[in-house]
Amino acid sequence: MIDLHSHTDESDGTCSPAQLIGEAARTGIHILGMTDHDTLRGFDKALPVARANGVELICGIELSTKLHGQSVHLLGYFLNDGDHGITEFRDWVLDMQASRRDRNVRLVARLQELGFNITLEEAEARGRGLTGRPHFAQLMVEKGYVSTLQQAFDEYLDESAKGYVYRREPQFAEGVERIRKAGGIASLAHPVRVRADIETLLPELCDVGMNAMEAYHSDHSPKDTSLYLALAERHGLLVTGGSDFHGAAKPSVRLGTGYGGNLQIPQDLVDRLKEAAPK
Ligand code: AMP
Ligand code: FE
Ligand code: FE
Ligand code: ZN
Repeated sequence: MIDLHSHTDESDGTCSPAQLIGEAARTGIHILGMTDHDTLRGFDKALPVARANGVELICGIELSTKLHGQSVHLLGYFLNDGDHGITEFRDWVLDMQASRRDRNVRLVARLQELGFNITLEEAEARGRGLTGRPHFAQLMVEKGYVSTLQQAFDEYLDESAKGYVYRREPQFAEGVERIRKAGGIASLAHPVRVRADIETLLPELCDVGMNAMEAYHSDHSPKDTSLYLALAERHGLLVTGGSDFHGAAKPSVRLGTGYGGNLQIPQDLVDRLKEAAPK
């Protein structure tokens, strides 16, 4: 079995990188793509463990990008091979993390200005390496300032709300370009979540160099998957697939098999990806 979309506790999953490899080995997954949000730290930690457990680990990432004002997730694969500018890519990822931290510093100041007793340390204790707005929302609920996470977003953290502070985020095209320049494959994550007509949008995404699409995903119905496979074929895109496993953060999604076995990822898809990735 294969699974090319998974998260560790280096982003918003709950398994440590080593635990995720253990889970993969137990589940019978022989090729695992680790795709933490905006970081490669999980992969770095997991690699020796994967080797020791006979799991083939593919270096991936899931970038949060902006496309026509909406947040769109972009997967990158094969980001550790050879010398295709991978150092530059890693530096860029670290730079994005620095801009996130800078935003968090300003966000705390803004929330304090609005009268909330919240510190960066408290938020970082919850978000660890990848602290973001959801962790601030969690804190506001814990401290009784709001009753739900959604209320924290609606009233304070959403882009349109009074606590919002700007963060530099890559445009979709820049994400694609960075991944491709590093020798990677750039795949549109869970296209079902894109809030636009995908058929209309695809030519533009292909034009900027996106070369794959995640046709298989836990959130896709069989009909969705068929549509994305057909679109990938029509636009000459490679196909990727994965469960989007987050551990106990999304307990109903199982590694490799999705919700109650709704996911069946053909193994030969990896061969095609490997053939296409620059050597
Ligand atoms: P950050 O990367 O720290 O800016 O946080 C972005 C994350 O916050 C997204 O991935 C969502 O999980 C969450 N988020 C952003 N806007 C909203 C919203 N209006 N309602 C609920 N969650 C949101
Ligand atoms: Fe996630
Ligand atoms: Fe995602
Ligand atoms: Zn994901």
